[in-house]
Amino acid sequence: MTSLLRPNERVLSTLNADGSRRWLRPKPSRGRFWRARRAVAYFLIALFVALPYIRIGDKPAVLLDILHREFTLFGRTFLPTDTVLLAALLVGVFLTVFFVTALFGRVWCGWACPQTVYMEFVFRPIERLFEGEPGSTRRKPAGLKAVKYAVYVALSVFLAHTFLAYFVGVDELLLWVRQSPLLHPVPFVVMLATTGLMLFDFGFFREQVCIVACPYGRMQSVMLDRDSLIVSYDRGRGEPRGRVRRNSAGRADVALPVVAAPAARTADCVDCGKCVVTCPTGIDIRDGLQMECIGCAQCIDACDDVMRKLDRPVGLIRYSSANAMAGGRARVLRARVAIYAALLAVVTGVFVTLLVTASPVDIRILRGRGQPFTLRDDGVVVGTIQVKLTNRTDHERAYTVEAVSPASAKVRLDENPVEVKPGHLSAQTGLLEVARGDFDSRGVCDVQIRIRDGERFERTIRYRTLGPSGHAGQEARP
Ligand code: SF4
Ligand code: SF4
Repeated sequence: MTSLLRPNERVLSTLNADGSRRWLRPKPSRGRFWRARRAVAYFLIALFVALPYIRIGDKPAVLLDILHREFTLFGRTFLPTDTVLLAALLVGVFLTVFFVTALFGRVWCGWACPQTVYMEFVFRPIERLFEGEPGSTRRKPAGLKAVKYAVYVALSVFLAHTFLAYFVGVDELLLWVRQSPLLHPVPFVVMLATTGLMLFDFGFFREQVCIVACPYGRMQSVMLDRDSLIVSYDRGRGEPRGRVRRNSAGRADVALPVVAAPAARTADCVDCGKCVVTCPTGIDIRDGLQMECIGCAQCIDACDDVMRKLDRPVGLIRYSSANAMAGGRARVLRARVAIYAALLAVVTGVFVTLLVTASPVDIRILRGRGQPFTLRDDGVVVGTIQVKLTNRTDHERAYTVEAVSPASAKVRLDENPVEVKPGHLSAQTGLLEVARGDFDSRGVCDVQIRIRDGERFERTIRYRTLGPSGHAGQEARP
C-alpha cells in the first residue's frame, strides 16, 4: 500500500490532510456585527423577493427581458441600441466594486453577497433548527435531516421562481405556474436547473464558492492595499497567546481551557479557538489576512464575547487596516481611492448625461440598395432610401417623415406615417425625389428631412443624396 503524500501545512480550509472534504459547521457568534448583518440580510432578502412585484409607472421596477433584448431598471427601459449607456452602466458597476473594495475590503462578501446572505441567514439556521447547534450534545431524531432537505427543496423552488420572475415578469410567471409545464417546457427546465443549482450550492458546495469558485474573491490581492479595511487580529496585543486559569473570583462562565499551575498573565489571546470554530470559511484569522476571509466579522463577535467575560478590552480582533495594525496612521484618502472616485464620477456623469439627453426616437436614414439614383424623363432624380425609426417611449407613436427643403424634394415611403410600438424598431424603404436643378455641380444635394410624432417630438436631419455626375456620398447625420 502506497503511503499518501501529505502536505506540510493546510492547503485549503475545507480539505483534510488525506484529501477528503472537511465539513464545516460554524458555531454562530451572535454579537453586534452578527445582529447588524442579520438586519441587512433580511432587508436584502425581502428586496429580492419584492422587486419583481414592484412597478414604477406602468413598468416593473426590474425586468431583464433577455429574449427581446430589453432591460428595464427602475422605470427606464434600455434597448439593444443603448450600447453606450449600457457600457457606461457596466463600467460604473465595476468601478464601484473597485472603489468600495479599496475602502472597505470584502464588505460585499460578508454583508451583502447572496451566497453569504442565504447561506448564513437562511440555510444554516434551518440546518441548526433540524440538526442542532454545532457542538451540541443533544441528539435530534434522525428523520429531521430528511425534513431539513425537504425544506431546502421547497425554499430552492421558491427562490428559483423568484429568480425567473426577474427575466420574464411576475404576470408571465404566475400564468406559467397555473398551467401545465408541458405548455412551456423551456422555462420549466430553467426553473428545475436553477433549483438544482441552489440545492447543490447551499446543501453541498457551500463555503467552497467563496474559497475556490468566486472570481471576486480571487481578485482581492490586487484590489486591496495596506490601508483597506479588513478584519485583523491584533498580534501585538494577542501574542504570545496562551491559556489561562479561571479568574480569582471563580467565574466559570467562560468555557476556557484551564492549566494546572498558575502562570504569568499571558497576552490577551487565550487560545480558546472560538474565533476559528465560528468562522464560516474555517480559517484562523490569527494567521493573518487570508484570501478565504470574507470579512463577515464573526470572529470579532466571538472574540469580543471572550474578552468581555475575561474583563479585558474588546477589539483583539477588529475591523482595521494592515497599516493601522502595524502602528501607522489610518489613511482613507489615498491615490488608489482618489483615482477610483474620479473615474467613477466621470462615468456617472456620462451615464446621467446620456440618460437625460437621450432622444425619444432613434432615427437612421440610409441609402437604399442598388444604383444610387435614376433620372426620370421629367427631370426628377430618384434615389432609394431606408428609414429606420426606434421608438424609445412607452407608448405607440406614428412618425411622419417629410422633406422640407429643397422645395422640390419629396419622401415616398411604403407607409407614412410610420407606426412604431414602444421599444420597437421599424425599417421603411422608399424613394427620395429631388429636381435635377437642386443638385450642385458635383451631383450632390443636401435634403432636410423632418420627422414628427404629432405630439411633442419633431426633428429635422440632413441627408445627402446623389444625382447625375455625383459619386458615393455619406450616410445621413442629424
Ligand atoms: S477568540 Fe480571541 S481569545 Fe479566543 S483564540 Fe480567538 S483571538 Fe484568541
Ligand atoms: S476570519 Fe473572521 S471575518 Fe474572516 S471569514 Fe472567518 S470569521 Fe469571517
